[in-house]
Amino acid sequence: MTDIYGLTPAKLAEKLKELGEKPSRAGIILPAVYGELLTDLTALPLKKETIEKLSGNFFSGELECVKKLVSDSADKYLFRLSDGDLIESVLMKHEFGHNVCVSTQVGCNMGCRFCASGKLRKVRDLTVSEMVGQIMYIRRDTGTRINGLSIMGIGEPLENLANVLDLIEIAQYPKGLDIGVKHITLSTCGIVPKIYELADSSSPVNLAVSLHAPNDGLRRTIMPTANRYSIAEIIKAASCYSEKNNRRITFEYVMLDGVNDSDECASELAALLSPLNCYVNIIRYNPSDGSEFRCSPHERIMGFYDILKKNGIGVTMRRELGASVNAACGQLRAGTAASHK
Ligand code: SF4
Repeated sequence: MTDIYGLTPAKLAEKLKELGEKPSRAGIILPAVYGELLTDLTALPLKKETIEKLSGNFFSGELECVKKLVSDSADKYLFRLSDGDLIESVLMKHEFGHNVCVSTQVGCNMGCRFCASGKLRKVRDLTVSEMVGQIMYIRRDTGTRINGLSIMGIGEPLENLANVLDLIEIAQYPKGLDIGVKHITLSTCGIVPKIYELADSSSPVNLAVSLHAPNDGLRRTIMPTANRYSIAEIIKAASCYSEKNNRRITFEYVMLDGVNDSDECASELAALLSPLNCYVNIIRYNPSDGSEFRCSPHERIMGFYDILKKNGIGVTMRRELGASVNAACGQLRAGTAASHK
């Protein structure tokens, strides 16, 4: 049996051909599965023999939700996978639509010191179906269309790039989830060779780079990956991505009290980024239990923001979504893993 959530339109067409069916049937199956949320393929408007063949060969890998936390701005879901591993996803409720933030790995090996997920080492990459399944569960649970996709939950997406590229293709399919590529954002902590690989793919999603420091010395103290790739290398790769795909790059910057939030850091960051087609997304830190960091005070954040603005840098400030539902990545899983593993 093949999990239909794991197949891109082209791979489904190929599979149908192998089964002796017309590949064009994919154009009937996918709108039913993703648009009408069909899980029972026997309800497809096809001949009895075809339906029997399809339902004997395909299934849809639904996820099991073991916990859901709800707030006005964000709902958080904890899912148990078929092997018992736990992952989490967030539904972000914006005025302009719903956005789902998906995880790409079970745990994460990047070890960012401010991140709850970094404390839970990577167990494995998620399959395509397990990533698509997060969107589909939430789509069904809310009963609404999903307008945007953020590939920035637990895990480093570029370390699971082949599967993530399939996820992007499935999410974009116009007769399916139909999430426009301009509404898909992939966030990386800066895996340089993979940024070039993504630039060469046919998926021009928005690229967000977790920078969090204006120089390598400071970055190395909070992000171990800074020992592998320098900021100069990351900026070169991100600029290549930006030029190839005509996309403005986002640099994420989490405000850590007394660590990376000084006026000097803001000026250094402005000087570093001013030649680039980019903007900075300032993020209020949402500390998990036992975190060694605190969020910078509001006045400090505004001071940092003003310096970037005065130096001509585009700045956005991420609304603090769902602090009451542990929306910082990895917090729900970190708080529950012990009782489920
Ligand atoms: S911030 Fe992202 S890359 Fe860093 S440890 Fe957490 S999940 Fe991994």
